[in-house]
Amino acid sequence: MKILVINCGSSSLKYQVIDTADGSVLAKGLCERIGIDGAFTYQNVRDNGPRDKREAEIKDHKAGINLVLNALTDSQNGVLHSLDEIDAVGHRIVHGGEKFTESVIIDSEVIKGIRDVSDLAPLHNPANLTGILACQALMPHTPMVAVFDTSFHQTMPKKAYMYALPLKYYNKYKVRKYGFHGTSHAFVSRSVAAYLGKKPEELKTIVCHLGNGASVSAVQYGKCIDTSMGLTPLAGLIMGTRCGDIDPAVGNYICNVEHISAEEFNSIMNKESGVYALSNGLSSDFRDLWTAREKGDKYATLALDAWAYRVAKTVGAYAAAMNGVDVIAFTAGVGENDTQSRKLVYDYFGYLGVKIDEEKNAATRGEVATISTPDSKVAVVVYPTNEELAIAQDTEKLVSALNERIEHRTEKKEAQKYENITK
Ligand code: AMP
Repeated sequence: MKILVINCGSSSLKYQVIDTADGSVLAKGLCERIGIDGAFTYQNVRDNGPRDKREAEIKDHKAGINLVLNALTDSQNGVLHSLDEIDAVGHRIVHGGEKFTESVIIDSEVIKGIRDVSDLAPLHNPANLTGILACQALMPHTPMVAVFDTSFHQTMPKKAYMYALPLKYYNKYKVRKYGFHGTSHAFVSRSVAAYLGKKPEELKTIVCHLGNGASVSAVQYGKCIDTSMGLTPLAGLIMGTRCGDIDPAVGNYICNVEHISAEEFNSIMNKESGVYALSNGLSSDFRDLWTAREKGDKYATLALDAWAYRVAKTVGAYAAAMNGVDVIAFTAGVGENDTQSRKLVYDYFGYLGVKIDEEKNAATRGEVATISTPDSKVAVVVYPTNEELAIAQDTEKLVSALNERIEHRTEKKEAQKYENITK
C-alpha cells in the first residue's frame, strides 16, 4: 500500500509517502510556520530528487495539505499520477488518554475521542485534529488511521501509572502517567526482537529513546510495563531543554522567590532547562556538548555526566521492575549516533553482566548493530527508530482488515442477491 503519513504540529506539518511493500519512502517534506509566513519543503526521494524548499503562503493546515497533495501529483517531480494512488492516510496523534489503547480507523467517534482528551495535550491534539479534518476535506474517500504516542504504554499496571496524589485528581481529570514516544518504543522493541531471532513475548527489553526529547521504557514480553515520561513529556530523563524529574516542590519555591507565574516556570522547565541549562546555556545539541567537553568545559562535562547518570538510574529501575533484562536498545538521535554518550551510559551496566565491544560501539552510527560481546549477559543493540514507518505499518494493517470486512460484506450481499434471483 502507499500510505501518506501526516504529523501535524501547531504551526507545522511533516509528511512522508511510504510504500509498505518494501518500507521505502517515495517522498517527504515539511510545511513550516503555518499561519505565520509559511515555508514548504518537498523531496522526491524515490528518484533521489533535490530537496526543494520555498517560501509559500500557508494560511492554515488545509492549505498546507493542499500544497503537499499538489507536489505529490506534480507532473515534473511528483511520485503519484493521481491522489487515488494513496491507499490510506496515517495520522500521528500525541495523546490518546485512556480511551485509545491501540491505533484505530478514524470515524466521527474517534474524532470526538481525540477532542475529548485534548485538555491533556492542549498544544498537540488540536493541531493533530486540524490535520485529520483537512485531509478528510481534500480526500473524503480515503481511509484514515490515528496512531497515538501514548497507546503502547496503556498496558502499564496501575501501580506504575498512578501518582500518589488525592484520588479525585485521577477520577475527575485523569491525572496519571501516560508516557510518550510509544510508536518508537513499540517499533524498536519488536524490531530488536526480530533482529535477534526472538519473539517479543520471549524478551525483557529496555528501550532507551535518547533524542532531544528522551524516554526509557520497560517492555516485558512485548508489553510496556513502565516508562519514564508522565502526564506530559516533561517527566523522567534530563533532555535537550527539558528538566525531567525534579522535586515537585521546586516549582512553588522558585515561583515565590523569583515572582514568576506557574506558566512561566512551566515554560522554563520545558524550554530553558535540561543539558542546555546544565551546560550554562551552551547548547542542547550533544555534538556541541562533546566538542566543549573535549576542550575541558566543566559545564558541558557536568551536563553530559548528569544526563547519563539519569539514563543509567532509570535503566536500573526498570531492570529491577522486570526482575532482569535480556536486551537494552539505544535509539533516536543520540542513541543511534552518539558513540561517546552511549559509552557514558553503558559504563554503568557492569553489575548487569553487560560486556561491550568498544570497537563495535565506536564504529556504529545510525545503523542496526549489536554492540555487546557474544558472552555479555545482556544484549546491547543500537536500532534506528522509524516512527513514520511504524505509523504506515499500523495504518496498512487496519485498512487491510477494513477492506477485507467490506469485501466480505459485499460478497455476502452479492450472494444474497443471486440467491434471491435464482429462487
Ligand atoms: P532527535 O530528537 O532524535 O532528532 O535527536 C536530536 C539530537 O541527536 C541532537 O540534538 C543531537 O544532539 C543528537 N545527534 C544527532 N546526530 C548526532 C551525531 N551524529 N552525533 C552526536 N549526536 C547526534
